[in-house]
Amino acid sequence: MKFCILASGSRGNSIYVEGSNSHVLVDVGMSAREIERRLASRELSPESIGAVVLTHAHGDHVKGVGVFANRYKIPVYGHPDTLDATTKRLKKGQSVVPINGPFEINGLRFTPFRVPHDCEPTHGYLINDSTSMLAICTDIGYVTDTVKSHIRQANALILESNHDSDMLMNGPYPFDLKARIDGRGGHLSNHHAGELLNEIIGPQLRRVVLGHLSNENNTPEKALNTVRSHLASEYHSRIHVIVQKTVSEIYSV
Ligand SMILES: [Zn+2]
Ligand SMILES: [Zn+2]
Repeated sequence: MKFCILASGSRGNSIYVEGSNSHVLVDVGMSAREIERRLASRELSPESIGAVVLTHAHGDHVKGVGVFANRYKIPVYGHPDTLDATTKRLKKGQSVVPINGPFEINGLRFTPFRVPHDCEPTHGYLINDSTSMLAICTDIGYVTDTVKSHIRQANALILESNHDSDMLMNGPYPFDLKARIDGRGGHLSNHHAGELLNEIIGPQLRRVVLGHLSNENNTPEKALNTVRSHLASEYHSRIHVIVQKTVSEIYSV
């Protein structure tokens, strides 16, 4: 299995996942044109994509889903409530697949798990083929036992490391927004991402990409350094980071 983070952050999210028989996008949170541009930058073809899977209905995850899915005539998978909340973005006649539990798309098996976030419901995913497992876990207000028990199984993990708590508290955001981001329905801080990783990392987890970084309240260096400071040095080289304006390399899981 391979994956490429096309975009990650509050201005748009999309992750390309490739199994031997299917290519899927998890979220289409930028315009279809921008997603196509980002795919092309890694020589990936939008025509090869067979489905879109949604994590939740916030605009930074669904902005381009209607145009993209309609252009390539592909189905959109999501929890029934997520699909309901996305209806206005979808084109007439769009094929949707409501899911409420594990499902499979041509050999890629998806296991959704609930994460606490101020958009009900929000899901993380375990995605596996016959040999390896990827976990996607962003937009989480706080860490739950459900989150831990799922991502513990992964060989590769895309984990939110949204903000540096000092930068957030001393930064320009109004109090209400600071409270929302820092609160139990908001986003995971670098510190909390590091604490979580320290609990679950082991030989099985070969790569971690920190994502959904705030442009205003974080830097890639702060995210990496804070998370690494929670981990034994043997794990430091496994931790990577992605910022909003760039497309990741294509990682093998
Ligand atoms: Zn988001
Ligand atoms: Zn969100």
